[in-house]
Amino acid sequence: QAKHKGKSSYAQFTPEMTEVSHERLQMESHMRKALELGEFELYYQPIVDTASGSLIGAEALLRWNNPAMGMVMPDRFIPLAEETGLIIPIGEWVIEEACKAAVAWRAMTGLESLSIAVNVSPRQFRDPGFTDAVMRSLNASGLPPECLELEITERLILDNTIETADILRQLDRTGIRLSVDDFGTGYSALSYLKSYPFDTLKIDKSFIQDVLNESGDASLVRAIINMAHSLGLKVIAEGVEEEGQTHFLKNENCDYSQGYFYSRPMPEQDFIYWLETNHRANH
Ligand code: C2E
Ligand code: MG
Ligand code: MG
Ligand code: MG
Repeated sequence: QAKHKGKSSYAQFTPEMTEVSHERLQMESHMRKALELGEFELYYQPIVDTASGSLIGAEALLRWNNPAMGMVMPDRFIPLAEETGLIIPIGEWVIEEACKAAVAWRAMTGLESLSIAVNVSPRQFRDPGFTDAVMRSLNASGLPPECLELEITERLILDNTIETADILRQLDRTGIRLSVDDFGTGYSALSYLKSYPFDTLKIDKSFIQDVLNESGDASLVRAIINMAHSLGLKVIAEGVEEEGQTHFLKNENCDYSQGYFYSRPMPEQDFIYWLETNHRANH
């Protein structure tokens, strides 16, 4: 049921099928102008090495500041951007902006390994111009490809297998890193992990949330980490909020962590401040 619903929300949706509510139409027309008006903003959330706590990169998270609606969170507008195709220009802007930001931080801190992770939605991923657009952003910014990580959800991977495999291989050949976002929430076939060129698994926050209280979640997280490592993949725990969770994750050799315990996503200026203090503290 959930799978079917997810699929129809981007693959089979046409404007005629869209529920024509006033709010929706207004949101769509606002969104069409938002890029030009400079209403989109990237927030950045640190990703740290679990063992040492030191910074390894950040995830770019999109925010929409609209004068009429205030700050709109991605869960409220990304689905509509997908349905309308607006996600393609918006997504290009996100990658361009994120690459430029990462180059600036790398120069500022001298951290050679500092990388940036960007979310890619299904429609954007399948657009024929996608790989070229990514390469343009890398070339224009001068960011080394291995410092860009594209996050792709499990659901995308499980749909439309042949096309997906081709695009993933094409991206992998450029040296860009690929991660599976929200791992564990899809209807995992798992076999894709051995045949596709992923570098990283991001364990969904729903598993991390109860890792200290639910032995089932603890077992799953432990099993995911071990499986990922035996396949040569790195693991990021998402949604780390409490110190106790960091002890668990350290103990289980989870490579990287991300969550409110370390920091909430921040506007770029705040992130730079965080970066400077964090960098100073560790060097
Ligand atoms: P995601 O990629 O799984 O991003 C992680 C989400 O978890 C973010 O929500 C982040 O703010 C939130 N989060 C981080 N740490 C914690 C924590 O400790 N506890 C809890 N409860 N939440 C935490 P956000 O920013 O609202 O983004 C939601 C989703 O929207 C993202 O999930 C991603 O799928 C999508 N998204 C965000 N930016 C973009 C974008 O530029 N392009 C596309 N296509 N999708 C995006
Ligand atoms: Mg993500
Ligand atoms: Mg690779
Ligand atoms: Mg996620």
